Amino acid sequence: MHGGCEFTVLLDSFDVKVIERYTGGTRRSRAMTTSRRVSFRSTLIGWMVVSTIVIRGEPSHAAPPPLLTVGRVRALVVSPHPDDATLGASGLIQHVMLRGGTVQVVQMTGGDGFPKGVTTINPHVAPTADAYRWYGSVREREAIRAMRQLGVHRSQVRLLGFPDGGLCELASTNRTGPAYASPYTRRESPPDTEQLVRGTMYRGDDVIRELARLIQEFRPTLVVLPGSADEHPDHCATHLLVHQALASAVGAGSPPPRVLHYVIHYPPWLSEQRVRAGGGASADTGTSDWQWRTLTLQASEQAAKRQALKAFHSQMLVMPDFLKSFAGDSELFVEGEPELPIPCWCSGVNIVGGTRVVH
Ligand SMILES: [Zn+2]
Repeated sequence: MHGGCEFTVLLDSFDVKVIERYTGGTRRSRAMTTSRRVSFRSTLIGWMVVSTIVIRGEPSHAAPPPLLTVGRVRALVVSPHPDDATLGASGLIQHVMLRGGTVQVVQMTGGDGFPKGVTTINPHVAPTADAYRWYGSVREREAIRAMRQLGVHRSQVRLLGFPDGGLCELASTNRTGPAYASPYTRRESPPDTEQLVRGTMYRGDDVIRELARLIQEFRPTLVVLPGSADEHPDHCATHLLVHQALASAVGAGSPPPRVLHYVIHYPPWLSEQRVRAGGGASADTGTSDWQWRTLTLQASEQAAKRQALKAFHSQMLVMPDFLKSFAGDSELFVEGEPELPIPCWCSGVNIVGGTRVVH
């Protein structure tokens, strides 16, 4: 079973202990199975609001969400890990190019912090920093091959080389000052070949500078990125970092683009039921500030997406059902943000705070 989760909430005055137990066998960072102690009522209220939103977004047999219409755009698609853009937006990417638009895909990390993935390939060897680095390069090549299946040329894929499993740290405690050191690769900076700005380190401000540079150079009219409701810390951190980079780029004169969010780790709709149903995504239309959009994939687009998913050999070894569950006849996107920010948990701390992200 994939994507399932259970929440247990124990109230002790205003002190709330939230224990999450994820029952999915999918990739989870160390922050995904954790005991969280928070001490502000506002955080609890925020969590309850999120629960309400999640419930509203459960798969439903009601009218499908409004169809997504996208014209000839310049689409910047941001992927926290090498497979996310393919999982969440293969159809959209093809849709844009078929209409004469342009796509640029940005890989935030090489997916190099995935112990289960490394040990699946080499089960008898304790993973070393070199093994994690090698694994990241394998996954980056898989992403490039997947994009080729969708018609995206290598020159349209940018690898940024930030730390898998560490993006939420960069978005919070490692914004400035000493660089974050990946416990997997032992790196403190992206490989030289993946730095847009020479001297980029594993710091949040450096991530934002890199992303803002990309936005200013590419001048997207559409940005596609993970949704704030995505439960993976790297994903919601990417959401925060990209929105901050957008604000920076727009502040420097870039035209504000349309923004769409895809969701990968979102148990209410990424359910076993959905997998059994053949992967068709569905959800209700959410709140007025948080609208689902659905993109229907043509048969040829579905076939290309299935081919692209096959490029991820290393992930197919670990979570084949999870990947295949995205090979349905539609893709879902969220436009807008909920009224209150959705928490992004990073080692037990909500790094969103009370500030609503710019969108
Ligand atoms: Zn991911």
